[in-house]
Amino acid sequence: MLHRRVRIWTARLAISLALLLIVLVVGSGWYSGAYAMQAGSRVVMLGFGSGQGAFVIGEQGAQSALGWSLHRFDPSWRWWFSIAQTPQSSQMLIPLWAPALVLLVFGWWARPKRLGKGQCLKCGYALGGADGELCPECGMSRG
Ligand SMILES: [Zn+2]
Repeated sequence: MLHRRVRIWTARLAISLALLLIVLVVGSGWYSGAYAMQAGSRVVMLGFGSGQGAFVIGEQGAQSALGWSLHRFDPSWRWWFSIAQTPQSSQMLIPLWAPALVLLVFGWWARPKRLGKGQCLKCGYALGGADGELCPECGMSRG
C-alpha cells in the first residue's frame, strides 16, 4: 500500500506518454522526422512518419544527412509492422499505435484502485483495527 503514490505517478506517466504518441501518430501523417547518427562504420537512424516509427541500421553513405531532419509530405498512414532489407540497410517499422496501446493498458492497470471505507487517504492502509489519530503506515492524520 506504500506504493500508492508510485502507482499514481506511473499511471499518469504512462497515459501522458500514450497521449503524446497518439499526437505523434496524427502528426506523422503529414510530417516525418528522423535522427541519424554514426556508429562505427554504420549509420543508425531513429525516425517516425506515416503513423509509424522506424529503426534503421545502414551502411555508411546510405544516409545522406546525420543529425536531425524533418520533412513534410502528403498525408499517408501505415498501420502494421514491417521489416525491410536492402543490401545497404535493414529497417524495422513499428506502428506507433502499438506502444501507445501498451502504455494505455499499462496506465489503466497501474492506476490506483478506489479507496474503500476505513482506508488511509494517503497510502490506502486499512485503518480498521488501528487506534489513534495517525495512520500507522505512513503517519498521515486520519480523516
Ligand atoms: Zn497512511
